[in-house]
Amino acid sequence: MLLYVHIPFCRRKCRYCAFFSRPLPEGGGEGEDGPLARYLAALGEELSQWGERLGGREVESVFFGGGTPSLVEPEALAAVLERVRRTFALRPDAEISMEANPDSLHTEEKARGFLDAGINRISLGVQSFDDGRLHTLGRVHRVEEARAAFRAIRKAGCGNLSLDLMWGLPGQTLEDWQAEVREALSLEPDHLSAYGLTLEEGTPLAEDVEKGLLDLPSEETQCAMYLEGIRLFEEAGLSQYEISNFARPGFRCRHNLGYWEGRDYLGLGPAAASTLNGERWTNPEGEAWFEQVREGRPCAEREALDTSTRALELMMLRLRTVKGLALDDYAALTGRAFLDEHGAFVRRLCEGGLAEAKDGTFRLTRQGMLVSNSILGELFEEEQESSGLREKKPT
Ligand code: SF4
Repeated sequence: MLLYVHIPFCRRKCRYCAFFSRPLPEGGGEGEDGPLARYLAALGEELSQWGERLGGREVESVFFGGGTPSLVEPEALAAVLERVRRTFALRPDAEISMEANPDSLHTEEKARGFLDAGINRISLGVQSFDDGRLHTLGRVHRVEEARAAFRAIRKAGCGNLSLDLMWGLPGQTLEDWQAEVREALSLEPDHLSAYGLTLEEGTPLAEDVEKGLLDLPSEETQCAMYLEGIRLFEEAGLSQYEISNFARPGFRCRHNLGYWEGRDYLGLGPAAASTLNGERWTNPEGEAWFEQVREGRPCAEREALDTSTRALELMMLRLRTVKGLALDDYAALTGRAFLDEHGAFVRRLCEGGLAEAKDGTFRLTRQGMLVSNSILGELFEEEQESSGLREKKPT
């Protein structure tokens, strides 16, 4: 099982973000009665409750995500991890990742604290190497802090360090993006995630674009950015293994690979999703989550995953990866042959250079990954018709 631990606090809300996180009040978050302490106490309680429900189930990876987990002091995070060890059978070789932001992890001392606590992989949210774009995104940090944070984490001894970048940002040109990629690569990360900007409804950035206050690069430029990014990452030895993820050999994120390979995962904290023992649910947000923990009950709204839903998930998750969908896996799950069900669609994609079907595998090409949402949308419709499931929509 994979374990996800949500830390729902950030220094300040970024202008593009739709994740569940709350700004941590200046100086008020860390005290004994502050929101962070209250949260960590409830998190410990939720962890114990799941320990009782699942016994000493084996945990192969832990991922502290958010929000901004690096806002938590290393000692507090060590205590959470200790509780994980007491509650579950945490494998000795488990990958233990933490998302960090440069505004809260810029000293060697704090970085060493997290490594001593047991974190063995850090993913640093740099997002851009341009102060103007960081400002547009509403990020708290600036480029110099990001560089300093990366170096401090390395100096502290982190041997598995990833950084996050974003492309397709307002005002960004292809040349800007190339320069940012080169700057990122000059830091020699072990892993890199490069996400195209998604405009989330209701966020200030989406509203600015809607009002015409900010312009996004053209579709053609965005395609060129994606492909050029891949070229530069791979030239530097970071090979692509998922739509937005690149790694040096041996540094793929095992936790995320586990999601894409369809392993069970338990999510702790508000808004955290879980897929476990044939059921899926998402914890409620805010006070409703505290109430759920206080009452000692699991999330009430759980969906049983039938074969049709699992087939959709299998396609959605595997087609994100460079490895693609093994046709035998589809057949084992559904009892049907993928190419019998979707032959004409597959042929059309292959002829258009958007996919490949060979050696018992169906996978998207880079061009296909660029338009993966619309490909999956069409594939899901066909699959729902084949399986007689018409109400489900891709998540
Ligand atoms: S730091 Fe991450 S989680 Fe927090 S507001 Fe920004 S994008 Fe959202």
